[in-house]
Amino acid sequence: MVRHECGYEQEILCRKCGSPVAYSGRIGLHCPKCGREITLVCPGCGKKW
Ligand SMILES: [Zn+2]
Ligand SMILES: [Zn+2]
Repeated sequence: MVRHECGYEQEILCRKCGSPVAYSGRIGLHCPKCGREITLVCPGCGKKW
C-alpha cells in the first residue's frame, strides 16, 4: 500500500513486472524491482501522486 499526501491509500502494482510500487518524496511513485516510474492521478483528491 502506498499513501498519498491527502491520506488516500491504495495498492498499486507495476504494469511492467507486477510488483507493488513504493513512494518516495524525491522520486515519487516507482517500482523498487524494475525501477519503472509510475505517473498516476490520485483518485482521492485528483492531484498528481
Ligand atoms: Zn516493475
Ligand atoms: Zn490524494
